[in-house]
Amino acid sequence: MKILIINCGSSSIKYKLYFFPKGHLIDKGLIERIGEKNSSISTHTQGVKKVFENLIKNRSVTSLKEIEVIGHRVVHGAETFREPHFINKEVIRKLEECTKLAPLHNPANLEGIKACSKVLKGVCQIAVFDTAFHQTIPEYAYMYAIPVKYYKNYKIRRYGFHGSSHQFVAKRASEILKKPLNKLNLITCHLGNGCSITAIKKGRSVDTSMGFTPLEGLMMGTRCGDIDCAVVLYIMEKEKLTPGQADMVLNKKSGLLGISGVSNDLRVIKNQIRKGNKRAQLALEMFIYRIEKYIGSYWFILGGADAICFTAGIGENSVETIDRIKKDLRKVIPGKTRILVIPTDEELMIAALSYNLVRDSKGKRKVRN
Ligand code: AMP
Repeated sequence: MKILIINCGSSSIKYKLYFFPKGHLIDKGLIERIGEKNSSISTHTQGVKKVFENLIKNRSVTSLKEIEVIGHRVVHGAETFREPHFINKEVIRKLEECTKLAPLHNPANLEGIKACSKVLKGVCQIAVFDTAFHQTIPEYAYMYAIPVKYYKNYKIRRYGFHGSSHQFVAKRASEILKKPLNKLNLITCHLGNGCSITAIKKGRSVDTSMGFTPLEGLMMGTRCGDIDCAVVLYIMEKEKLTPGQADMVLNKKSGLLGISGVSNDLRVIKNQIRKGNKRAQLALEMFIYRIEKYIGSYWFILGGADAICFTAGIGENSVETIDRIKKDLRKVIPGKTRILVIPTDEELMIAALSYNLVRDSKGKRKVRN
């Protein structure tokens, strides 16, 4: 079965085509600059058409009918979607409701779904949610200590993100450790431009560092992570910022970029450190400190872990940074706890979850809806 995975951003479509049950990658690509000035692709529908053209051109499929399933990454499933779902009109309506909680991400995901329905009418589509893996987090960990009416009225709570990545890494860790996932305690650290850490108890997420939005938790490329909320109110008042402007400061101008003043990219920061840039050094120290602080607290709530796993751009490639963290961890964490670097593959996880859903729901094999 050929399964196409679509990961739609506001101006891009990342895609991968797999063959299942083996999970072999057949093709992959990226359509960029959708809707931008001077771009030949002005809508997601055109972008999706381009994806299909590429697949035919590369001979990855001879006819589009070979694509039996399209799996979509959807950032926010709120409390409505706790697992992958077949997409139909009702699901699209519910996804539109979830958009209130993720105005920056879900609209692009929905565009991708609608574009695929238009271009490949009747194809079986599945939504896989970044938030779903974290739906096992207990109430005492996902509630914020603010009046409960805000949870009741607006669903304000911690949701967590990067779920497919944490889930993929956990699954790989269980293969590496040769132990069933439901017998493992893990701390998975997704360190890319966005960063999050998850505490996994017996294979299930019990806490994660991102919250209502991907802003909470670790210091990231351009996001501030944990902060005293009073600081935000104070700055807004002092600088007469609108909520939108404050959001911009916290999401786009903070983190490694805000502290170093030079870049959100750790490679550039390392270069600056070599040149003696003190703010770049401070940015790195703060970044590492937060990671270690979260690992420490998750170590405690799990009562220890079988492995601590690092993944994503920084986790997989910044050997120096991860070695430094490993060295610090080894001072307190026993040798029997493995420290692993595991390349993530969110698309493969989405494909596997889509395949499982199709297989489980039809021993009967009625795939198109
Ligand atoms: P991601 O969001 O997972 O694609 O990760 C992107 C980030 O990974 C970049 O912004 C860099 O900070 C970081 N990165 C990628 N390669 C390296 C490397 N070789 N050394 C340090 N950081 C890296």
